[in-house]
Amino acid sequence: MKEQIERIRAEFQKALAGADTPEALDQLRVQFLGRKGKVQQLLRGLGQLPPEQRPEVGRLVNALRDQVQQALKEKKASLKPAVPREWLDLTLPGRKPPVGKKHPLTQVLDEIKAFFVQRGFTVADGPEVETDYYNFEALNIPRNHPARDMQDTLYITQDIVLRTHTSPVQIRVMESQQPPVRIIAPGRVYRRDTPDASHSPFFHQVEGLCVDRGVSFGDLKAIISEFARELFGEDIHVRFRPSFFPFTEPSLEYDFNCVFCRGKGCRVCKQTGWMEISGAGMVDPNVFKAVGYDPDIYTGYAFGMGVDRIAMLKFGIDDIRLFFENDLRFLNQF
Ligand SMILES: [Zn+2]
Repeated sequence: MKEQIERIRAEFQKALAGADTPEALDQLRVQFLGRKGKVQQLLRGLGQLPPEQRPEVGRLVNALRDQVQQALKEKKASLKPAVPREWLDLTLPGRKPPVGKKHPLTQVLDEIKAFFVQRGFTVADGPEVETDYYNFEALNIPRNHPARDMQDTLYITQDIVLRTHTSPVQIRVMESQQPPVRIIAPGRVYRRDTPDASHSPFFHQVEGLCVDRGVSFGDLKAIISEFARELFGEDIHVRFRPSFFPFTEPSLEYDFNCVFCRGKGCRVCKQTGWMEISGAGMVDPNVFKAVGYDPDIYTGYAFGMGVDRIAMLKFGIDDIRLFFENDLRFLNQF
């Protein structure tokens, strides 16, 4: 029996040396440790031995079983590194991280800023929560002035409002510096409006102001006309209509040729060929007095424009609310 054990041990060691795949090792395990394996047969043979020999031979067989198990385990572990865990293809193109882009309103605002900065304007900023004085009073809109009804204002207190236009920035700039002044003031403004396709309780304006000796209506017309051509194309003309604003005299509203039909007349412009853009005018002498400029020496023009409206025209968007819903399916198109 002991010889048999030694023979099987030698047989196993020889077979193990030749097994160099996981499959071969599995086969060995079945061959030696399986239910019909060689070690199992030895254990079964124990019953035929005289009782006094059984304990010693039993220990030897168990020792062989343990040795086989341990040897198979170690060999299997030593094979593992040969199996590649992952495979790296250095020729594959890299995965691009998703890159954000500018909001369409920011894109248009950047374009507007670039146009005016190239012409000597600087960009001015001011608070969105504004005092009654800067939003109305200093702009020649006194407390009992009917113009206050024109603007459905969001009041925080009786004297503090969410600014209804960016014009208060003009006042703050003129208070802090002497002419010449050439600024644009872009920013968010608020009105008590019910949202629909063309109204939003907040939107974006750019206000422009130019004050110096000898600034004329012709200068205003020139810069607005150039702006229209720059943004929408050489064939876009500008039309001025008389209007009224408390802080300019004379006041006007300006229209661009319809950017969809280029002035020929279409459904969007109701066959007129024109689209209303915004208001402008020569700065009212009362506004100059409020900031301490001498209206006998200085003249100036001011104009406003809606960034949202211009972006809608530029991109052919028919609902202002799309700008503020942050729907990536919409924003990714620009
Ligand atoms: Zn049209």
